[in-house]
Amino acid sequence: MTIRLALVGLGKIARDQHLPAIEATEGLRLTAIASRHAGHPDLPSYPEIDALLAAEDAEAVTLCTPPQGRHAQARAAIAAGRHVMLEKPPGATVTEVQDLARQAKAAGVTLFATWHSREAAAVDAARDWLATRPIRHVRITWKEDVRHWHPRQEWIWQAGGLGVFDPGINALSIATAILPAPLFVTAADLSFPSNRAAPIAARIAMDCGGAPVDAEFDWRQTGPQTWDIEVETESGTLRLSHGGSRLHLDGAEQMAAPDREYARLYARFADLIRTGRSDVDLSPLQLVADAFLLAERHQVEAFEE
Ligand code: NAP
Repeated sequence: MTIRLALVGLGKIARDQHLPAIEATEGLRLTAIASRHAGHPDLPSYPEIDALLAAEDAEAVTLCTPPQGRHAQARAAIAAGRHVMLEKPPGATVTEVQDLARQAKAAGVTLFATWHSREAAAVDAARDWLATRPIRHVRITWKEDVRHWHPRQEWIWQAGGLGVFDPGINALSIATAILPAPLFVTAADLSFPSNRAAPIAARIAMDCGGAPVDAEFDWRQTGPQTWDIEVETESGTLRLSHGGSRLHLDGAEQMAAPDREYARLYARFADLIRTGRSDVDLSPLQLVADAFLLAERHQVEAFEE
């Protein structure tokens, strides 16, 4: 049976990834859109989610809006008996997403808090390789150019927008999936532009079963971009690069595959709905929250687009 799906927040990620992935997923059909300033040429389009929920019979809703405000949208969808898929990060706080998980359970609908980077091609292989190897040291380097990837996105700089952790949480979603022990934050250092409420750069020290994990995030990197995780173990070094799509073991390339992250997310959403399950792992968002709790804060020069 085909699942009818509505999408809320027709912005960059919705156009770049969600629309083509939904189109390519067997058993899913996009039937409506809600977005304040955008519509779909061939589908009913509404300015906001309440109007969509009142008029449309879609069984499932994907939220591609910014994390601030998503709780109210998800709550409305769950209350209307719809299954809900959340873009990453799943919300502006850990507890608001826990609240959604409780509501979804009580309503008997699926809640899927997605982590698209966990679907990168080499992530499963990295987890399997690391499962039996004692870890010595982990280095995460996630550096990109905010002007290129997030042009004119004001919400990302506001409270709840996470700043450099908006991409950085992708690294944490991979680390929490591939490392054989849970992570916790031991120190954090955040750099805030003098005119913004969210950090432009961050360093976090974490612990993974007694091994140190050093993570560096920076939004000021021009030229080549870096999305790497290196794990030194007692029997070799693993390197995931290009956001998790390439895998090297002791310098030798093992895997380099094209991006299928969103196709995999939608196949999983359909499966969760059909089997009556939810998937809500908040560990990456919890690490970011703990980094804010422990942070030494520095002011750096104002950020101008
Ligand atoms: P975006 O381009 O700003 O799109 C978000 C859309 O949500 C906007 O176009 C806007 O459409 C709607 N919206 C509703 N309330 C809003 C508000 N208060 N402020 C701003 N927009 C509002 O952002 P995006 O890059 O697609 O990111 C959306 C989510 O996807 C974020 O959680 C982000 O972390 C995640 N994501 C982004 C990327 C990426 O490469 N950009 C990659 C993976 C995941 P209307 O104005 O028409 O309502």
